[in-house]
Formats: sequence, C-alpha cells, structure tokens
Amino acid sequence: MYSMDNDIDHILVSEDALKAKVNELGAQISRDYAGKDLLLVSILKGSVVFMADLMRAVQIPCAIDFMVVSSYGGANTSSTGLVKIIKDLDADLTGRDVLIVEDILDTGITLSKLVPVLKMRNPGSVKICTILSKPSRRMADIEPDYCGFEVPDEFVVGYGLDYDEKYRNLPYVGVLKPEVYSGE
Ligand code: 5GP
Ligand code: MG
Ligand code: MG
Repeated sequence: MYSMDNDIDHILVSEDALKAKVNELGAQISRDYAGKDLLLVSILKGSVVFMADLMRAVQIPCAIDFMVVSSYGGANTSSTGLVKIIKDLDADLTGRDVLIVEDILDTGITLSKLVPVLKMRNPGSVKICTILSKPSRRMADIEPDYCGFEVPDEFVVGYGLDYDEKYRNLPYVGVLKPEVYSGE
C-alpha cells in the first residue's frame, strides 16, 4: 500500500503486467541487438523507472546514458510543442546503436524533434523503446520501434510518470481522481 493509492481513480497497467512486458521487451532487444554496440538513452525523469527495469532485462552488453529534455512545464498537462535540451548526453554516438528509452509517446512532438538531433551525430542507428503509447494523441509522424502498452487518451501517472513531480514512485500506471487536479 502506498498513501498515494487514495489519489488513483483506476489502474491501467498493473505492476505484474509491467514486469512481464519489460522482460519480454528485454528479450526482444537482446535478440535484435546481439553483436551490436547498444547504447540505451534514458530521457529523464519520466523514464528512470522503466530504464532501471529494462536494462536488467537486456541480456547482452550495453552502455547507458541520460538526457534531460523539456516539453511540459510544472503541473501543466498539455504539450507546449517546444523541446529544449537541458542536459545533453556524455557519450559519443558515432557508429553506435542508440535505443531511446522513454516513458510515453504521447503527441510524439518531443521525440520527433530529438531523433533528428541524435541522427546528426552519426550513430549506427536510432530507435525508440517506450513503455506506454497514446496513439490517439499523436501529432508528429513518429511511432515507437518497441512499445509496452497502448493506453487511452487519459493523463497517467506512476512507473516514473508524474503529476506536478509526484506519483513517479507508484509501481503501477494509473489515472488520477479528478479532484486531485481540481484541488490545486
Ligand atoms: P509527447 O507529447 O512529446 O510525446 O510527450 C512528451 C512527454 O510528456 C512524455 O515523455 C511524458 O514525460 C509527458 N507525458 C505525456 N503524456 C503524459 C501522461 O499521460 N502523463 C504524464 N505524467 N506525462 C505525460
Ligand atoms: Mg518523457
Ligand atoms: Mg512530467
């Protein structure tokens, strides 16, 4: 039990379902990237929980790196359409097989701007692995190469995803009760 459970209206993806799916994705990535120079690039902060689980489900050698980009501000729950690199990668991408690890592909605006930036650095390849996707919200022409779960058009929290920096530590993905927003 988490005290934040009381703020959750309903669970969309359970802890068990996440665990099973992450293991599946890890096995698939291990097969697809065998013999390659795999670099997992986590987009902070939302993907930190998924990254920590996924990297342990990847059974081949890989390196990791982190990037901070921003497209949402504070408690605002709608996309601004702007992407800013706040913390860049340390790694040299030349010739490497980059797999972007993301929490959710929503409008797709963030990654549609980030992928071309990474491709300019001469990597061997750039692909996307996201634990969640909201296909009905897509505005940019981009789809994940690896995807855990498709979710409906609802604002979700947990498993790394926040509302106003809270709920990231919930072990499942859920939807907040409406009064949590209106209580601001
Ligand atoms: P985009 O709309 O550019 O695809 O999504 C950018 C980022 O917005 C995501 O990586 C995620 O951090 C955040 N985001 C999008 N949808 C949701 C959502 O339903 N819940 C939360 N907590 N964050 C979201
Ligand atoms: Mg994100
Ligand atoms: Mg956020």
